[in-house]
Amino acid sequence: MKPLYSQSIDEVLQQLQTTASGLTDQQAAERLRQYGPNRLAGAAKPTLLQRFVAQLRDPMLLILLVAAAVSGLTNYLAGESFAEAIIILVVVLLNAGLGVFQESKAEAAIEALQTMTAATCKVIRSGKQLTLHSDELVPGDVIVLEAGDSVPADGRLLESASLKIEEAALTGESVPAGKMAAALGLTPDRREVPLGDRKNMCYMGSAVVYGRGKAVVTATGMQTEMGKIAGALAGTEDEQTPLQRRLEELGRTLSKLVLGICVFIFVFDLAMAGSFTLQNVLSTFMVAVSLAVAAIPEGLATVVTVVLSIGVTNMSKRQAVIRRLTAVETLGCTQVICTDKTGTLTQNRMTVVEHQGDTAALATAMALCNDAHLNSDGRAEGEPTEAALVAFAAAQGLPKGQLEAERPRVDELPFDSGRKMMSTLHRVNDGFIQYTKGAPDVILQRCTSYRENGTVHPLTEAKRADLLAQNKAMADRALRVLAAAERRWTQPPTSHDSADWERDLCYLGLTGMMDPVRPEVQAAIAQCRQAGIRPVMITGDHKDTAVAIARQLQIIDDPSQALTGAELDGMSDEELARKVQQYGVYARVQPEHKTRIVAAWRQQGAVTAMSGDGVNDAPSLKMADIGIGMGVTGTDVTKNVADMVLADDNFATIVAAVEEGRRIYDNIRKSIQFLLASNMSEVLGVFVATLLGFTLLNPVHLLFINLITDCFPALALGMEKGEPDTMQRPPRRTTDGIFAGGLGLDIAWQGMLIAAITLVSYILGHCMEVGFFEMPRGVSPDGMTMAFLTMSFCEVCHSFNMRSQRKSLFSLHSHNPVLWGAMAGSLVLTTAVLEIPPLAAMFGFTPVSLPEYLVALALALLILPIVELVKWFQRRHARTA
Ligand code: ATP
Repeated sequence: MKPLYSQSIDEVLQQLQTTASGLTDQQAAERLRQYGPNRLAGAAKPTLLQRFVAQLRDPMLLILLVAAAVSGLTNYLAGESFAEAIIILVVVLLNAGLGVFQESKAEAAIEALQTMTAATCKVIRSGKQLTLHSDELVPGDVIVLEAGDSVPADGRLLESASLKIEEAALTGESVPAGKMAAALGLTPDRREVPLGDRKNMCYMGSAVVYGRGKAVVTATGMQTEMGKIAGALAGTEDEQTPLQRRLEELGRTLSKLVLGICVFIFVFDLAMAGSFTLQNVLSTFMVAVSLAVAAIPEGLATVVTVVLSIGVTNMSKRQAVIRRLTAVETLGCTQVICTDKTGTLTQNRMTVVEHQGDTAALATAMALCNDAHLNSDGRAEGEPTEAALVAFAAAQGLPKGQLEAERPRVDELPFDSGRKMMSTLHRVNDGFIQYTKGAPDVILQRCTSYRENGTVHPLTEAKRADLLAQNKAMADRALRVLAAAERRWTQPPTSHDSADWERDLCYLGLTGMMDPVRPEVQAAIAQCRQAGIRPVMITGDHKDTAVAIARQLQIIDDPSQALTGAELDGMSDEELARKVQQYGVYARVQPEHKTRIVAAWRQQGAVTAMSGDGVNDAPSLKMADIGIGMGVTGTDVTKNVADMVLADDNFATIVAAVEEGRRIYDNIRKSIQFLLASNMSEVLGVFVATLLGFTLLNPVHLLFINLITDCFPALALGMEKGEPDTMQRPPRRTTDGIFAGGLGLDIAWQGMLIAAITLVSYILGHCMEVGFFEMPRGVSPDGMTMAFLTMSFCEVCHSFNMRSQRKSLFSLHSHNPVLWGAMAGSLVLTTAVLEIPPLAAMFGFTPVSLPEYLVALALALLILPIVELVKWFQRRHARTA
């Protein structure tokens, strides 16, 4: 059988048992069952058991397993019960299980987001065009391809209007290939035509960069060329955010440090004891282990992952869909937001409110040189600018269907934002007529005549100036102005060259469209200003329109802050970088200019976000620190490279996402500060106690505090509401490490404070039982019990201090019910292990009397007023500094 590319369209359709008007829904459903979804097989996900084992691979947990074994051995030698070993094992397993659970939940949250931005495609079924998820495609489906679409499956083209497809993913060729529908002959030696030369085929994973076309799907899923080379695609790469990487580094450094201290303590303790029996060596080893347990922040990685994933889900509720986790952090640092005008700042709800020129000819041209249409109930459907023009013509008594029947379209040069115009060719009685519509300044350059009251006049310079002035007057009123022109042909043009088509035009008139500003944008811009973020408008529209809207929105206050694409062309990259801060509006730009603008800002060291929708926006989105794709009007190509997609195309959503990004980062810092201060207190406490000659807490106690008591408050801190000044301070610097802003110092003194309180509690606990002036030596169960109680209470109370690094707890107007819940939960658990006799026995706790309980609690509560007082001094110091 001949390959599909050398068959005629009829043969292809017949072979695939379909028609040019597509499959019926029933046929499609049957084929979907037969061929399966149009998806590339991903790498198999790890099973629960694999995940569990992966968790256990953590060196910390390995140390604990060894500790469990050593403890078991010690107890065996001493003829005691294996309680400690069992507790360690249970806590390790519980922790690994919790890790698996939270990781899977976080992953599911991110996956859910990915399906939100899953690719869709335009399919014709039973003669009607629908939008479907790409994985519902089956062989035989007829698909519509437009600039910006990514090709959803392999197909044989049925139609091509200047269709160009970039197939680099398959052929390595980055220059887009022109496509056509006609059958290809075989090569002279009757060998297969190479993939890159099959001009009438399109392949999954390539991108339509220009024109329009239709194709019948020939292969889906793993049967596609992409499927054949891809084999099993690796799943989404496991990408870590900068913060996660830094934390991992910190973890490694801490581990080394801890190892050093452990060895020191081990040797020191042995030397002090002066006896080297096996029993003694083993118990000293356990002291060293408890130090390791105390120092390593086990919950940290999990807490960060969970807070990030909850944050990302929150953002999606605010219409910002994160595609790459790193964007969450970068958002908080954003200094410049470069945004499109149409649809992002404005509503993209165009209506023609003014026009000038030969009304009937103007309306005809605007409606015919147009890909929108009137639906059955008379509403215009399509791209908003185009739909507005179709509606305008209909209002003039010229419905598009009727016009098209009289003057069918035979050829076209599609719109592209570089040329800023489009042309179509129509058959009329006495030959052909071309209509061109586009930016007035561009169109007028190509006109040599104009039509007025049915007669054609030569276009003098004076008239041109007059028309440009009319254009400016409309643009100054913030209208989006388009011009239309026509040209007669006796024979259709042979080339598809703009230089041949779009010249010697006859000017017909102007339409002025109003596109109201989105109501929430003004507040969002004001919020940007307060937050130290610079909004920059970039638009293909006319400078005057852009300036009028930008002033209305207070993006700029003076027209001198606007630059046009042409002026930009006259500047070198260095000059642009030097002056980039001056400009808040770029008008009449082409997508290529956007990359220059981003580059200039980045050269100034600014973290830059850039929004985009069109095919040609992809490079600038990639270059920006945060590429923002448009969910509604955006093309697949831009969405695929974006770090974040706006489900509602709204500028205000970008600002909301920045706010959310700042909040998430703040909260992660709060959790980190809390967990590290807790660890710090434990290490210091154990260390100082060892030097003083007693054992503060056993490894199981520390494990319990770290993995059970601390976990909930840390997570709850991750859910804190934003502080009132979240959007009133300048963006965080990307160079700021984890400990920036005095966090390191805070952790240090707060850790010392908790350690001191715990030590006091230990000594008091010991003395209250044994008698005062009786300093503890070795192991004092009473002291340990009190220390345990105080340390867990104290850390839980301290989590409340962490709700704000500097502000008083009592000045915060928000509440964190989850934190209260975490506090209650932690208290119940701590009390449970103390008060339920079998548990208490396992942990080696002695019964606690009411006075002891109250003393422990009172000591723990001390952390609140002391930290408040220090914060007060810190605030005072910051004010005077
Ligand atoms: P933004 O960049 O803010 O989205 P834009 O829609 O004006 O604004 P482009 O799509 O690049 O940007 O359009 C550039 C110019 O091309 C427009 O200002 C308009 O004059 C002209 N234009 C836009 N759409 C069409 C169209 N469908 N047909 C003809 N000309 C158009």
